[in-house]
Amino acid sequence: MRTLALGSTGTDVMEIQSLLKKIGYEIYYVDGVFGPETERAVKEFQNNNGLVSDGIIGPATYEKLNPLLLGAVSYTIRPGDNLWYLSIRFNTTVNKILTANPDINPNNLQIGQVINIPYCFDIVDTDIGYTYDILERDIEGLKLRYPFLEVGSAGKSVLGRELYYIRLGEGDNQVFYNGAHHALEWITSPVLMKFAENFLKAYVNNQSIRGYDTSKIWDNSSIYIIPMVNPDGIDLVLNGLSEDNPYYDELIQWNNGSTDFSTTWQSNNKGIDLNHNYPAKWQESKDGEIELGISCPGPTRCSGPFALSEPESQAIVDFVNKHDFRLVLAYHSQGQVIFWRFEDLEPMPESKIIGDQFAEVSGYRLGEIYGIGSYAGMKDWFIQDYRRPGYTVEVGRGKNPLPIEQFPMIYNNNEELLLLASVI
Ligand SMILES: [Zn+2]
Repeated sequence: MRTLALGSTGTDVMEIQSLLKKIGYEIYYVDGVFGPETERAVKEFQNNNGLVSDGIIGPATYEKLNPLLLGAVSYTIRPGDNLWYLSIRFNTTVNKILTANPDINPNNLQIGQVINIPYCFDIVDTDIGYTYDILERDIEGLKLRYPFLEVGSAGKSVLGRELYYIRLGEGDNQVFYNGAHHALEWITSPVLMKFAENFLKAYVNNQSIRGYDTSKIWDNSSIYIIPMVNPDGIDLVLNGLSEDNPYYDELIQWNNGSTDFSTTWQSNNKGIDLNHNYPAKWQESKDGEIELGISCPGPTRCSGPFALSEPESQAIVDFVNKHDFRLVLAYHSQGQVIFWRFEDLEPMPESKIIGDQFAEVSGYRLGEIYGIGSYAGMKDWFIQDYRRPGYTVEVGRGKNPLPIEQFPMIYNNNEELLLLASVI
């Protein structure tokens, strides 16, 4: 963690602003700029936590912020403690504590035992630039709060970042949702993460969401989610080009001489567009790319030297091959449209019927694409190799990257679709 102070900017500043706002400090602008308002809030936070009130976020302040960022604090049981008292003291509920600590006996707390106490607020923030670091912490936070959650990695990115997956449910009906193949479309990562959090919250409370019984889904289905397929690309878009990036010079060259990746970059860290790198009419994708004079490697639409040349697309293929997915949703932005077809391949009638239902519950249009955009994508490969329903869901409307202000609308459009896909 770097030290943050007046004048600092970046996604880490944004994350702290969002947190301080969430826990009741006066922050009006979650904009990633550490201004006087943020400094005032930090000083107040320090004051309330027995820290030197200097408005600078260094190691001591981070130590106090970190449990809040994770959404749970580690606590050692002392004489006289009981869960009711602890729930009041940490502003949470007894149920939340019991869920996070399945092994404790509430009537016989052991002095010296270390437990995790979850806070009352949600973990996944949906008002900030959603980076890999934030994803990683959110997954850690969900795991602390819901220890039964299965979390793992499907592989690594070019720069060695984990391609995390989480699994909701234990049933035989396996479905697979993935997000952010394209770096500018990072908003799809918090969509899937928020869905996971809301689902877990409802499941532990025996609640339904939009009439869908989460316990029943948990028992009958397994929803596998890889929320961020392209973490390196997202880092370029949201955090910029780091000086220690091993491809530093090449990336600038591939980005047409610019060090600003924030509005151009869809590819992975090697300038390959992951959603043009799957073995489904890959050669046609390559030919189209050459015909159109697309630079390769480059910011977008470069198919790579050969199909599955990239560790990220290879990891997704391996992950799918290790499972038995009945259906796949690949999340992208933008256009409010759902693509369901690859060539004239089966299962034609079923894919269309399900696609129509997805369109109905999301309010999106069911669409078809032809030409370069319709080759070598994740869902194309899945339909081709498995002959099962696969969809590209293009969320939101406008120019990528979509502003995070669209999040509530996007989430609202997609929540039922995400539920329905697990039972259809
Ligand atoms: Zn896309």
